[in-house]
Amino acid sequence: MHHIDIELIEMTLDVMKYVIGRVSATEHQIGKPKKSEELLALVGETVTPKGVGGEYAFNLWKEHLAKTNVPVDHPRNLAFVPASPTKAAIMFDLITSASSIHGAYWMEGAGGIFCENEAMKWIVSLTGLPEGAFGVFTSGGTAANLSAIVTAREHWRENPEFKREKGLIITSLGAHSSIKSMAKVADVDILLVDSEEHLTGDALMETISTLTEHQRKCLFAVVATGGTTNAGIIDELDSIAAVCEAENLWFHVDAAYGGGALVADSVRHLFKGIEKADSITIDPHKWMFSPYDCGAVIYKNMELAKNAHSQQGSYLEIFKDEGAHGFNPTDYQIQLTRRVRGLPLWFSLATHGTDRYKEAVERGLELAQIAGRLIEAHPDLELVREPSLSCVLYRRIGWEPEDYTHWTYENHDKGFALVTPTKWKNGDTYETCSRFCFINPDTTEKDIQLILETMV
Ligand SMILES: *Cc1c(COP(=O)(O)O)cnc(C)c1O
Repeated sequence: MHHIDIELIEMTLDVMKYVIGRVSATEHQIGKPKKSEELLALVGETVTPKGVGGEYAFNLWKEHLAKTNVPVDHPRNLAFVPASPTKAAIMFDLITSASSIHGAYWMEGAGGIFCENEAMKWIVSLTGLPEGAFGVFTSGGTAANLSAIVTAREHWRENPEFKREKGLIITSLGAHSSIKSMAKVADVDILLVDSEEHLTGDALMETISTLTEHQRKCLFAVVATGGTTNAGIIDELDSIAAVCEAENLWFHVDAAYGGGALVADSVRHLFKGIEKADSITIDPHKWMFSPYDCGAVIYKNMELAKNAHSQQGSYLEIFKDEGAHGFNPTDYQIQLTRRVRGLPLWFSLATHGTDRYKEAVERGLELAQIAGRLIEAHPDLELVREPSLSCVLYRRIGWEPEDYTHWTYENHDKGFALVTPTKWKNGDTYETCSRFCFINPDTTEKDIQLILETMV
């Protein structure tokens, strides 16, 4: 006789009901934050010696807490880089949790890692990297960038001449903040080419020529961006690759946001040269419709990543044994214990097929073009620059920085939209402007119109 746990069944049904409601709803409010003290006043103490009970806690979540989060997949959430996980991926994220798979070693996670690798094969195929290139899913772009920088630096330091040197990397002003922070974590110096427009091989060469002899000795890598987070700008990857090859430098492409656009025929040519990279970062949780969190780091030469990241420990030896042999994701990035976070992406790809991904990304690109036309046709609005990938920077003529801030808060407060201001470097000055980033294919032209109409 099986013991039937009624409470467990009830909790499971409650959760499933909530999830079904969440994924099938057509209109959501954009939640707005409350202060921590206000939330505590609303829900009271919840972590107590006896517990408050699942039903009670779940009600607090539904009544008060859930409403203070901004769902990033709201069609009028065009701030930062939004997201839009497929329903298939969200449902399989639940399976991923319920399966308790340790995703570090094949020995324990063969089925899950196999699926992750099938999804990874597709991502790698989009890059055009040569045979032998492969990758692994990480917690996000930050962890992917760190894993790549450490791999590059360790490879460089194999040369005894550099063993005791602090390395140097060059990137551009448009590079993501995580490149600067991860350079700090890896203890390498960083030099920024001072332009937010796309970095070229010529500009890179010019910067290299200004280095001191010691700086040149310590320079080991260049980080180009495949779609800047602020403006969607793709560096001139082909000419940068040529410089890296001639100067014997590691070539990393950070395409955390833009990488999804590799699938789109209309813009694929802009990434020419990415196939020459030594490593690439792509975030499936940005433009590949995966739930949080899911990043990816890809290497031309997997052995170099393994040399840098494989962890040693007496209790880990069994995993490396012949009997357990297979692909061990922990060997190629900074994490040991890991969720098989590529598994939801695999299920979604298997469910929908890769053509649907192509269409959904093309729609994001199209929305940026539509927004551009609506802005140009509007008497009070102007484009700051042509839309690039799915990013649109535009100004409201006559507005001061505080007008943009006020406008953002007002739309957020009404639960209507989340569109945030940014800055664009214009010569020596920074201009505050408004920014759209499109990911969700369900955003409509009407949504864009309604948002622009609030800029009075
Ligand atoms: C978002 C982003 C990152 C950071 O990725 P996380 O997943 O947030 O850690 C890095 N680089 C670029 C270009 C990005 O757009």
